Amino acid sequence: MTKTNITCWVCGQKEFELFKNSDISSELSSMNFAITNFDYGKTGELNKCKNCGFIQCSDLDKVTGFYENLEDQGYEDSRKERKLQEKRLVKYLGKFKNKGKLLDIGAGSGIMVEAALEVGYDAVGIEPSKWLQQQAKKHNLPVFQGVFPHPEAKGPYEIITLVDVIEHVTNPAELLSLIRNALNNDGIFVLVTPDVSSIAARLLKFKWWHFRIAHIGYFNKKNLILLLNKSGFDIIKLSRPSWYFTLKYLGIRFLSFFPKFLQFQLPKFLDKIIVPVNLRDSILVVCKKVSE
Ligand SMILES: [Zn+2]
Repeated sequence: MTKTNITCWVCGQKEFELFKNSDISSELSSMNFAITNFDYGKTGELNKCKNCGFIQCSDLDKVTGFYENLEDQGYEDSRKERKLQEKRLVKYLGKFKNKGKLLDIGAGSGIMVEAALEVGYDAVGIEPSKWLQQQAKKHNLPVFQGVFPHPEAKGPYEIITLVDVIEHVTNPAELLSLIRNALNNDGIFVLVTPDVSSIAARLLKFKWWHFRIAHIGYFNKKNLILLLNKSGFDIIKLSRPSWYFTLKYLGIRFLSFFPKFLQFQLPKFLDKIIVPVNLRDSILVVCKKVSE
C-alpha cells in the first residue's frame, strides 16, 4: 500500500513508495523517544519520496509531548564521553567562527553549551525535555525548556547548532527557515544528522541503529543539501563526525546483534575506556546564509 495523501517534507512532491512497514504494536510512551533507547529497527510506517529519496514517517506528527516528558538517565550517565564529543565539535566550529553568541537547539542536558562556554562562546541552549533541562540547571548551564523559537533565546546568533535533531521533526523546512532568520548575516549554521545512504545503513538494513521510532525523517547527502539550499543556506563544508563511546556501550550494542543465548555479561572496566568511532554514517554540514 502506498500512501497518496502525504507530501514530502523536503521537496514537496506527493509520490512515495513504501519503504518499511510499521512495527509499533502498543501505545507509545516517552521511553520510546529516549536518546539511549535500544529498540533499533522499530519505527512507524516509513515512506520514501520517489522524487528526492527522503524517507519519512508521516504518522507520528504529534511527538512534542513525548519529548517534554522524556527522562533519560542513560544519557546523563554517558556525560563524560558525550562531553569529549562536544568538545571536539566545538573545536571544529572554531575554524569557522571562534567567538560570539551560540545557540544549541535540542541541547539535552547542556553538554554542548558547557563545552562552548568553556572556550569563550556566549552559549545557550533550548531543550524540550523538562528532565534534561533540570540536569542542565544542576550544572548551572543556560538551557531553556521548550522548543525553538524560544522567547528567552533571542537572536541574532553567530552560530546555531542542530545536532541529531532534524531527524526528529515533522517540518524540517520550517525549522531551517526559522533558524536562518535567527542567524546573523555572517553567522554559521551547523547541522548533524544520520545518513540513510551510508554504507553502515545499507549493510545493516533495518538493524541500523538510527532506525528507531523517534526518527521520523531520514536524509541522504543529496536531499539534505537540497533542503538546505531551498531554505537559503550555502554549504561551506560537509564531513563525517566521530562519536565517542565507552567500550562497554559498544560491547552491549555489538552483542545486541546476536541471539539472547549468545549474549554475556561484559567486564566492568570496559566502562572506563572511551574510544572515538567514525562509522561515517552521519553527516556534518557547516552552512552560511545565502546573501540577500
Ligand atoms: Zn521528496
